[in-house]
Order: sequence, then structure tokens, then C-alpha cells
Amino acid sequence: MTSTTAGTDTGIVVDETPEAKAAFYTELQSYVGLEIGPPEPAPDLVNAPMIRHLVETVGDKNPVYTDADLAAHSVHGGIVAPPTMLQSWVMVGIEGPKRDGDGPYERMNQLLFSRGFTSVVGTNSDQVYHRYLRPGDRLTMRTVIDTISDEKTTGLGTGHFVTTRQDYYDADDQLVGQMMFRIFRFRPKAKAPAAKPKPPRPRPATTFDNKWWFDGLNAGRLLAQRCADCAALRFPTGPMCPSCHSLSWVEVDMPMSGTIHSFVITHYPQIPSFDYPLPILLVDLDPPADARPDDATVRMIMNVKDNSSDGLEVGARVNVVIEATDPDMKLPFAVLEGSNTGGAR
Ligand SMILES: [Zn+2]
Repeated sequence: MTSTTAGTDTGIVVDETPEAKAAFYTELQSYVGLEIGPPEPAPDLVNAPMIRHLVETVGDKNPVYTDADLAAHSVHGGIVAPPTMLQSWVMVGIEGPKRDGDGPYERMNQLLFSRGFTSVVGTNSDQVYHRYLRPGDRLTMRTVIDTISDEKTTGLGTGHFVTTRQDYYDADDQLVGQMMFRIFRFRPKAKAPAAKPKPPRPRPATTFDNKWWFDGLNAGRLLAQRCADCAALRFPTGPMCPSCHSLSWVEVDMPMSGTIHSFVITHYPQIPSFDYPLPILLVDLDPPADARPDDATVRMIMNVKDNSSDGLEVGARVNVVIEATDPDMKLPFAVLEGSNTGGAR
């Protein structure tokens, strides 16, 4: 006699003896072939306006769906509905009648729940068309539990595939189309796989021309460059002054404070090294101690310490802190002035 708890997410204790499993499976199979409720009449006749809306939405230009004159001379002899609209004709909308909550389908689900198969995912759907539908057709749908698989284990967990079959009949009770819809009812896995350790943050490419700037960060300094000839202040780093083309320059210590010039909060695409949502700021640093009247603004890209997007707005004041992102790399991060995430100085 063995019992297992079917997944920590459900807490449902399941008798896993062969006898109990066999009894469950036999009961489960008793639902195959049952109609899940009374026939469901379509709320509207097959009609030209709905056809037109659908083909406009999907961009189907075939005139046999919308042009009565042309359709009359086609093999169809008149307007027909796109076959893929089959299911849409019986959709009742959110205000429509609700199915009886105690029918065979619901009882089958309760049986599956009792064995811990509490999760569901749609897997696939197939449609079969026996004839084209035309404006004026009145459909009725009957839904049958078509098949229930034996126990299967997939990447999601262990469970049963349940296929329902919807049969669509016209006013003469002729079968005009069918849809098979398959779901997988499964036990959620007991444990999510251990999270992979977050890979380190991708390192900025360092070159002979910018290594000094990263060395400055490692020494706790936030630096820009000033041309030794024309005194132009510049950032990002570069070997040559864009103003006078001089190759001579000196380091300038920038204040650890500034103003948000702009920002984005990225959600996608997600890179495993980062946490999301990920704010990325453009910060206008305050002028350096040796500021000159014609200095350009030094504008740096940085993330926010602890990734907080609280209170971010253009023009907001920030302090800059230098944080290690791996054992050999430090980068500047913004901390909103007045925030309590630390680092304000
Ligand atoms: Zn210069």
C-alpha cells in the first residue's frame, strides 16, 4: 500500500496502488462517448456581416466570401463562409447561457481533480468540414467526450489527454463539420526544477582607449575626459577630441549626482543575467568641480541600484553609486534621491 501526495501544489493525497489506479481508470473511461450537455443552438444564423468582419480582420481577399455577384458565378453558386469560422457560429458570448455545472464533463473533471490532476493545458485542435456553410444556415452543436488517454507523462507532468468532439449540424440535422479539441489534465510537478544560477552580467568591452575609465570605477571614481588643448569636456571616452582633434587629454572626476534625462523600463527581450522589469537611465551628471561655461553635459547610461523603478521620472534627481557586478568589474548605478535603497551621499 503506497500513497503519494500528488504534487506540493495540490496537497491531494492519492492512492497509487495498482488496484486504485485501475479502478480510477475504469471510472474515467466510463465518460467516453457521453454528450456533455444538451445540444447548443447557434445564437445567429450564418450571416454575411460576420463573414465580412472575419475576412477583413484576417485579410482574406477571396471574393467568394463577400462578393455576391462573383460568388454566384463560382463553383459555390453564392456566398459561402470561410470553413474556419465553424466554431464562431455557436459562440454565445460572455452574456450567453452557461452550461449546467453538474454535467458529465464537470463530473469527469472532478474525478480527475480527486486524483490530483488539477492543472490543464490545451494541446491541439482539428477541424473537419463536410460542406461549406452559407448565409441562412442555422447550426446546432453537440459536444461529446471523444477519448481519454491512459496515464501519460510529459514535460509538464503526468496526466490524461481528454479529447472532446464538437459535431455541428444544420437545420436538416445533417452533419456539416466537426472539431476535435484536446486538453491535457495533469498533476503539476511537485517541485519546479532548481533555478539555474544567474549568469554574470555581460561585461562591457574594454579596449586600450576606455580601460582607464573602468579602472577609475574600480578605484571608486566616476570619470570623464577633458581635452588638454581646447578644454572640451567629453564622454563617452575616446582617444581624440571631437572639437580640435587633439590626442592629449586629462581625467576629470565627475560628481556622484545628476538628473534623469530619459529612461526606459525594459520587459523584453529578457537576458538571463538581469532582473526584469529593468530600468535603463540616461543621467545628466552635475558639472565637475572645474566646470567651464561652455562644458557639454556629461550623460551616462546606467541601471538603477536594486532595479527599482519607483519614482522614476524625467528630471528626477539621482545619486550615483559604484557597485561590483562581478569580482573584477564595477559599474555606476543610480539611486533616486530621497529613496531609502541606500547609497545616497
Ligand atoms: Zn580639444
